[in-house]
Amino acid sequence: MIEAKDKQYIWHPFTQMKGWLEHSQTVITDANGIKLIDSNGREYYDAVSSLWVNIHGHRRTEIDQAIIRQLGRVAHSTALGLANMPAAEYAEQLIKAAPAGLTKVFYSDDGSTAVEVAIKMAFQYWRHQGRPDKKRFVALEQAYHGDTVGTVSVGGIDLFHRVFKPLLFAPFYIPSPSCYHCRLADSPASCNLACARQLEKLLEEKHHEIAALVIEPLVQAAAGMLMSPPGYLARVRELTRKYDVLLIADEVATGFGRTGRLFACEHENVDPDFMCLSKGITGGYLPLAATLTTDRIYNEFLGEMAEKRTFYHGHSYTANQLGCAAALASLKIFSDEQVIAGLAPKIAAISANMAKLKEHEHVGDARQCGMIAGIELMQNKELKQPYSWEQCIGAKVCAKAREYGVFIRPVGDVVVFMPPLCVSPDDIDLMLGVVARSVEEICSQGQSVDDGGGAHF
Ligand SMILES: *Cc1c(COP(=O)(O)O)cnc(C)c1O
Repeated sequence: MIEAKDKQYIWHPFTQMKGWLEHSQTVITDANGIKLIDSNGREYYDAVSSLWVNIHGHRRTEIDQAIIRQLGRVAHSTALGLANMPAAEYAEQLIKAAPAGLTKVFYSDDGSTAVEVAIKMAFQYWRHQGRPDKKRFVALEQAYHGDTVGTVSVGGIDLFHRVFKPLLFAPFYIPSPSCYHCRLADSPASCNLACARQLEKLLEEKHHEIAALVIEPLVQAAAGMLMSPPGYLARVRELTRKYDVLLIADEVATGFGRTGRLFACEHENVDPDFMCLSKGITGGYLPLAATLTTDRIYNEFLGEMAEKRTFYHGHSYTANQLGCAAALASLKIFSDEQVIAGLAPKIAAISANMAKLKEHEHVGDARQCGMIAGIELMQNKELKQPYSWEQCIGAKVCAKAREYGVFIRPVGDVVVFMPPLCVSPDDIDLMLGVVARSVEEICSQGQSVDDGGGAHF
């Protein structure tokens, strides 16, 4: 039995395994479109795109076929000393689609490695420039950039990151410009100003020590879909440019259409010095990541071997052919089907549901950026009083939704809704209808439900 083998042999990510072992678990055996199918033949809407990765649905013929075609040639050859076709083709197309100024692609495997690469490149860049003092980073409170030691260092989520503090380098933190939670201001406009002012003050004083600023553009996803006010990202770009600090845009969650544009940076015409991509890059099929950067950075690493300007970093599966073939097929669907242009009615359907959800007595905030939404549960919404952490209220609402056939995951008490982009407005209504009903039953009627082991992420 698969569930028994899982429980005997697997250690799951972000999971308290004691709880996992004590509860019955779902085994996924198949999928079709936006639905996952378990070993009992039950179907679930994949309302979080299999943790923010799936873009065009499961078992998309074009992506399936692209991978099968590539398998008929070669699955993987190393990128150390060898080039390959899908990696080169995809790099060209990605650069054409990306913000201006980004001209080079460094491949890796995951979001964490994509950010890790940008951090190391930025650090080494300033060494080559003869400015080794520019070695520190600026990160946002509540930031999440991955789980490797370097990316945890620029993370700001206490629950995940605190235990590792002794292992980490310390960035300068600036406030998270999230409108609902802003601790500096109470309106989006003043939040924007107040948060940008703090950044300016820091850069004014410390820019000679700072290599780069790392940011999740528009949406701090793992923090609970915290959304920054309009203009904030553009202001960050303006200030980092003014003080000669590199800008690393971590679009691992926001990239590939989630915010309603191909990349979140496009909303504010921001051209970063690095852009980190993963999650949706292969349409949610295979692990692949890309760190994009500019000629300015790339050229600084050129030289004779003896000059030691090489970027000594790489991973075994860098530029993997199967991943790049899937990524090419996924990008082709974006253009063939005008996916971005087709998002408008879906975004509108999410907005309509968010407006309704906001009225619920236990929904403090229902926020949205394009195809990303977060429904924040509150014990007392007038007082902005959260549920106690131990109640696992987000996990309970999601467990209830699963009973109704919608697979959804919270981050803390924020129920995340991030469906594949191919979802229909009717499916959106259906899924968010289930979420509303689950919130009502768990928060208002106090129905009990097995929370599946108190999963928080
Ligand atoms: C998920 C995520 C990462 C980490 O990606 P992994 O593939 O899980 O390593 C980094 N940054 C952001 C913004 C993410 O959402």
